[in-house]
Amino acid sequence: MSFPPSGAPLLPSYLHVDGLGPWATYLQQVERVVPHLGHLARWSETLSRPKRALIVDVPIELDNGCVAHFEGYRVQHNLSRGPGKGGIRFHQDVTLSEVMALSGWMSIKNAAVNVPYGGAKGGVRVDPSTLSRGELERVTRRYTSEINLLIGPSKDIPAPDVNTNEQIMAWMMDTYSVNSGATATGVVTGKPIALGGSLGRREATGRGVFTVASEAMHELGLAVPGQRVAIQGLGNVGGVSARLFHDAGAKVVAVQDHCVSLYKGDGIDIPRLLEHVAEHGSAQGFADAEVIDAAQFWQADCEILIPAALEGQLNKDNARQIRAKIVIEGANGPTTPEADDILFDRNILVVPDVLANAGGVTVSYFEWVQDFSSFFWTEEEINHRLVKIMREAFHSIWQVAQEKSISLRTAAFVVGCSRILQARELRGLYP
Ligand code: GLU
Repeated sequence: MSFPPSGAPLLPSYLHVDGLGPWATYLQQVERVVPHLGHLARWSETLSRPKRALIVDVPIELDNGCVAHFEGYRVQHNLSRGPGKGGIRFHQDVTLSEVMALSGWMSIKNAAVNVPYGGAKGGVRVDPSTLSRGELERVTRRYTSEINLLIGPSKDIPAPDVNTNEQIMAWMMDTYSVNSGATATGVVTGKPIALGGSLGRREATGRGVFTVASEAMHELGLAVPGQRVAIQGLGNVGGVSARLFHDAGAKVVAVQDHCVSLYKGDGIDIPRLLEHVAEHGSAQGFADAEVIDAAQFWQADCEILIPAALEGQLNKDNARQIRAKIVIEGANGPTTPEADDILFDRNILVVPDVLANAGGVTVSYFEWVQDFSSFFWTEEEINHRLVKIMREAFHSIWQVAQEKSISLRTAAFVVGCSRILQARELRGLYP
């Protein structure tokens, strides 16, 4: 019998799982870029196959003496341009296919803004709000030990993502360092400043979102002051974006988090709202805005819509109701391919995740460089370099979109995938 049997393509099973999930979205986005890759299209299947994926068991002793097991993942999607780079997510709905998609988007994001990394991502399927601080530390340390064989300052460098923070990065850095017998600050980014973290890292993703939003608005002839903004997610990305828009004179008229949706036509008092969120863990109970239905949030009358939470939020059911002129993807993968088409047909500009939220990994790169050289930059220098990289990336991708009459997402994929596949081709196949 011939192999593969009867000429059937031999595809790994995970390419077919989860027909509607983030990996399916990622594959459809890749499919759209292939016709624009010229001779590099020969290598394009590289993009649809993660280089390696590790599934680990994370057992910990709970405070009540029971043993609980959690499933963890680290996926290295592509290492052609440099070490793996991408965050670690703690969430009860994390799956392998989600982490695969997130790792693919990291490869393209890192290449789109031209930082010298491949793409990787990790996650643990756990709801961290159900854990005590001690349990959270044990999950983090055990997970880090389990993925120890993949990570390292010049191999693969994790960072924060949904529900992970500076403290978790400090535990990861310590666990890796203890296991390897030497302090290795460069093994993770997004660390506390006292452990080799970078000034400006915490705000970097939101600052990048604000920077590309301002550039996109400029292209459409809109000035930031007075514009109405709706933001889904009030975490690190949405919260910082809200503050920067507010400070620049825009009006944040609608917000949504995991508990509540709020609306105020003449603009929510963002500093007060963020204080409330810091105190209560959610916008719920904030009195100075009207509570609206989750569905009404998507219909908010505004110029700028920023999904800054999880994947698949803008879909075929709500994309026709969006009233914004511009969508800025603070989250990874918030727009399904069907919604992308609807928004494109409606002439709503979507600034894609791989460009819009790349500020975080850009300052992670600065942090890693500073750790390696043990020489730390001022916040002013960091913000200046960040804004420069984001603006340049925006304009080179904008130009490709104009020249080829394609969406900004496909243009960002053209720029990112071409860099990845050029590196792939130059390195060649070995063995
Ligand atoms: N988790 C962030 C992202 O999705 C940051 C990754 C990093 O800094 O490595 O881009």
